Amino acid sequence: MTDVIPAPAPVRVPVRDGGSFPVRRVYCVGRNFADHAREMGAQAPASRADRGRPVFFMKPADAIATRGEVHYPPGTADLHHEVELVVALGRDAPPGVLARDAAEDLVFGYAVGLDLTRRDLQSAAKQAGLPWDTGKAFDESAPLSEIVPAAAIGPLAARRLSLAVNGTERQAAPLSDLIWDVPDILHELSRLYALRAGDLVFMGTPAGVAALVPGDACEARLDDAIELRCRIAAPRVR
Ligand code: MN
Repeated sequence: MTDVIPAPAPVRVPVRDGGSFPVRRVYCVGRNFADHAREMGAQAPASRADRGRPVFFMKPADAIATRGEVHYPPGTADLHHEVELVVALGRDAPPGVLARDAAEDLVFGYAVGLDLTRRDLQSAAKQAGLPWDTGKAFDESAPLSEIVPAAAIGPLAARRLSLAVNGTERQAAPLSDLIWDVPDILHELSRLYALRAGDLVFMGTPAGVAALVPGDACEARLDDAIELRCRIAAPRVR
């Protein structure tokens, strides 16, 4: 059968040392660092045993932005940065719920991303008990670094995630502070969704989220292992 419109090309993310990673879905975790949960006015769990279930939301695959510059989005006066570890899945999950100890077999690699957020729209939605989509799932809302194969990163817990804006550090935390680590999150996601090769998972942000304005230069890092540079450009002419 012939397509009646041109088929959109999948979003592709460059992979370190060659090739590209076609993106299928973008899952995101909310409230995965206790200090950020508290700064957003949410309760942070007192212990792992007390943590309940993670908060998930999604962004469209074509929100991924790899060009090093994104436009200030329409419809907001309070665009926030959230620096996050991003997991790239290289294999389909087997049917059923994924065991924690089988989770790492699915991981192709890691990246650093920004979960850009229209905080004013998200806050209004939260207060009204409405979905977060307009606050989270907009065009160019997910700047992303190259993807680095997992073998080059090694154990995650000792790694430090950070974001500097115009040279000043705003967010930083060791990944040992994650309330749900990568196996926990892939296990929890598999209870709700069929995970597939090409899926990305934004793992949640530490404290220090704040506003960005056009002209700001973001430098997000996982130590010296992964770097994302992204500039906020003037709004797109509409
Ligand atoms: Mn986030």
